[in-house]
Amino acid sequence: MQTLYITHPECRLHEMGDWHPESPFRLDAINDHLISSGLQGLLEEREALPATEVDILRVHSSKHLEYLRKMSPAEGYAELDPDTIMNPHTLSAAFAAAGAGIVAVDAIMKNEAHTAFCSVRPPGHHARPGQAMGFCFFNNLAITVAYTLEKYGFKRIAIIDFDVHHGNGTEEMFNSDARILMCSIYQDAIFPNVYAQNAGSNMVNIGVPANTGGETLRDIVETRWMPQLEDFQPEFIFVSAGFDGHRDDMLGGLNMHESDYAWITERLVKLADRTAGGRIVSFLEGGYDLSALGRSVAVHIKALAKL
Ligand SMILES: [Zn+2]
Repeated sequence: MQTLYITHPECRLHEMGDWHPESPFRLDAINDHLISSGLQGLLEEREALPATEVDILRVHSSKHLEYLRKMSPAEGYAELDPDTIMNPHTLSAAFAAAGAGIVAVDAIMKNEAHTAFCSVRPPGHHARPGQAMGFCFFNNLAITVAYTLEKYGFKRIAIIDFDVHHGNGTEEMFNSDARILMCSIYQDAIFPNVYAQNAGSNMVNIGVPANTGGETLRDIVETRWMPQLEDFQPEFIFVSAGFDGHRDDMLGGLNMHESDYAWITERLVKLADRTAGGRIVSFLEGGYDLSALGRSVAVHIKALAKL
C-alpha cells in the first residue's frame, strides 16, 4: 500500500448550522466518490489519533487552546466569528484533524506508505497562532510540519497551498523560517484579504484575478514555483489541498477543473520522487461544491497513489 487515507468519525460530527457550506456532507461526498470510482479499495484507511497539547502548542498559543476549551459548548452553538462556529463535537474533531497528519508522517517514516491524504475537517490553513478564523480552529498542516521538523530533523520542507483562499495562518507560522519553502496560488482580493506585509523570501505567493483558469495555473507552477522548488530540493512535501478554485464552486471565483488538480498533483509527485523519497502528506482544506469536491479529491488521490 502506497497511499493512506486518514480520517476520524468525529470529523463528521462537527457542524456549524444547516446553512454553512463547510458541512459534514463534504466528507460524505468524498467518501461516496471514492467508493463509486473504485478507489476506496485501493487505499489503506487509518483512523487519526487526536493531536496532543504539545503538538498543538508548537504553532498555537496556550491562550488560543484555552479560549477554544472555554468556548466549546455543552449544547447548541458557540460563534467565534460569523463564519467559525463550535458545536459540542468541534473541539474533539479539531484535535482529531490536527493529529491526522502526524499519523501519516509516522507511517511514512516507517516506510508503510509514501503518500497520504488526510480527509479531515475542520480545515486548518486560516488558523493563526492565536486565532480561529475562516472555518479553521487548529492549523492541521502547520502542526504536522512542526512535529516533522522536531521529530525527524528535516532541513527542507515544502508547503504547497492551492486553495482559492490564501493560507494566511500557515504563512504567519512559517514566515522567514529557512527550513520551509511555501508556494501558494490563490484568488486576489477575497477572504482572508490579508497578506503578509513582510513576507519572507521563503514565501512564494502568487495571487491571481477572478476567472483565472487551469492554463495559467499550470504556467505559474512551471515558471514560478518549480524553479524555486528545484533549487530548494525539499525532503518532504505537505499540501493544503483546497478545491474551492474549481469552476463549479460558489465560494471562489477561479476556473479550475479537476484535471488541473490531477496535473498539479502529478507534478508534485514527480518532484517528491526526485527529492523527497516520494513523501507527500496532503490535507483537505476548502471545496464546497459537493460533486466537484468528490471528483477533485478522487483525481488528487489517484495521482498521489500513482493509479
Ligand atoms: Zn478556501
